[in-house]
Amino acid sequence: MPSERVAVVGAGVGGLVAASLLASRGVSVIVVERRAELGGKMRRVGIAGRQVDCGPTVFTMRPVFEEIFTNAGSRLADHLTLRPAEILARHAWNEEERLDLFADIDRSADAIGRFAGSQEAKGYVEFCARARQIYQLLEEPFIQSARPSLHGLINAFGLRRLGDLWQISPFVSLWNALSDYFRDPRLRQLFGRYATYCGSSPFSAPATLMLVAHVEREGVWLVDGGMYRLAQALAALATKAGAVLRHQSEASAIIVERGRACGVALKSGERIDADAVICNADTAALSSGQLGKAVAAAAPSSPSASRSLSAITWAMVAPVGGFPLVRHNVFFSGDYADEFDCIRRGKLPSEPTVYVCAQDRGDVADGRFVNMTAPAEPLLCLVNAPPTGGANSLETLEIDQCEERAFALLRRCGLRIQRQNTTTVTTTPHDFERMFPATGGALYGPASHGWMASFRRPGSRSRIPGLYLAGGSTHPGPGVPMAAISGRLAAEAVAEDFSSMRRLVPADISGGMLMR
Ligand SMILES: Cc1cc2nc3c(=O)[nH]c(=O)nc-3n(C[C@H](O)[C@H](O)[C@H](O)COP(=O)(O)OP(=O)(O)OC[C@H]3O[C@@H](n4cnc5c(N)ncnc54)[C@H](O)[C@@H]3O)c2cc1C
Repeated sequence: MPSERVAVVGAGVGGLVAASLLASRGVSVIVVERRAELGGKMRRVGIAGRQVDCGPTVFTMRPVFEEIFTNAGSRLADHLTLRPAEILARHAWNEEERLDLFADIDRSADAIGRFAGSQEAKGYVEFCARARQIYQLLEEPFIQSARPSLHGLINAFGLRRLGDLWQISPFVSLWNALSDYFRDPRLRQLFGRYATYCGSSPFSAPATLMLVAHVEREGVWLVDGGMYRLAQALAALATKAGAVLRHQSEASAIIVERGRACGVALKSGERIDADAVICNADTAALSSGQLGKAVAAAAPSSPSASRSLSAITWAMVAPVGGFPLVRHNVFFSGDYADEFDCIRRGKLPSEPTVYVCAQDRGDVADGRFVNMTAPAEPLLCLVNAPPTGGANSLETLEIDQCEERAFALLRRCGLRIQRQNTTTVTTTPHDFERMFPATGGALYGPASHGWMASFRRPGSRSRIPGLYLAGGSTHPGPGVPMAAISGRLAAEAVAEDFSSMRRLVPADISGGMLMR
């Protein structure tokens, strides 16, 4: 008997997770991906014989993936070697001012005490407690919930716990909230940076985003071989479950007939019929009409002013000396407010904060582990940038100046990268716009600015029956684990709707899918 058919547009994390979960339960799944490689933003480039990660590098929320792999009939550990990071990240402001943040809260408190005094260490412990409280309050009723709404959240908390809702600090900015815990501006900068994990400015994002700090403290995992291995593992999981993954197959439209999504038209002219379609492209691609007029209103459109951050990245394989890099390193600019003000005005920061991932490196807590033997190693350097990748692209001169300032900051912090004779692959907001159409290069969907922003993200069910949404521009938000959760929620919504349709019209739909 034929099973129900699902077409997935896009092989990012959300698309691959949805495909794996549905295929493993007998649904016939085809994933169409416009690019040659799978994984979406989780991508890599080949430089000097090495594969360098160019997308996400920080792997968190491991249990989310363990559950997905188990539910799709496999084990995460069979696909990836993951090691817990003792040092979450090494931070520097110059050659003297350096601070490591550890997975262990007491070690971090000690390090902060030595760096900025005992009052700041006490503030850190209080901050961690608050971040944990916010995460725990939101995990079930919001992050894991398929239909998030303010009303739903209030219901979930119940009248007796409405005070708890206030505790998630939705009305105060992250930056302002941080001054309750830290007097030292460097620490406000360090913990404010967590807003950028959602593509947002700490000056505009609600303090609720403190929960990102908790997620990271719960565990950062070092993926042996780099993060792209996760994309490969998800693709293998989907294929093993029976999904068909088609590269270089761009969807030109999602087909709607009799008010219901029923397939995908490819640029090549081919038509793929389906009982349901999951769109893993950014929802901006829907609202801009790039996937056809019939689905332009499928998700709320957000103005380009509310786009999240873009980035400029420089990927390279180069000899490194001086600064003892660990896997994750952050080099801070002198003026964080100015940095986000420039970005708000569509400009590159006059002095950008620079994140450097040294993907070959592990870490040990005393910092002695420095990879001095390798002559050259893969590096990804990243700065935040405005999402102006469409019409108002940044000028080459501005990008060159930003690069100069970013690498000057690294040198001031003691990091020497020998870039001579080394190929550097630069990716700009314009390049991101080309790879992820209609986004302007915004990497995280709409920004999480203001207390209502998170409720405005569309959930798994679109406004068009049969069309479902998954990915970082949808609920519960951006980041690899969140996009994975969105894929799981989309798969669950599809399964639920298939099963109620089967109950309504048992004679018409006789496929033997059993989702739960
Ligand atoms: C530089 C960078 C650094 C990041 N760092 C981190 C990090 O350290 N940790 C973390 O957790 N997250 C990080 N993120 C965010 C994270 O990568 C994303 O939130 C997540 O990967 C998004 O997954 P997604 O499901 O939205 O799919 P996407 O990655 O957005 O993929 C969507 C896919 O759809 C395809 N597509 C679009 N339109 C069509 C069409 N018409 N036809 C066919 N295919 C189409 C695209 O080609 C793409 O492959 C980072 C992102 C970037 C870019």
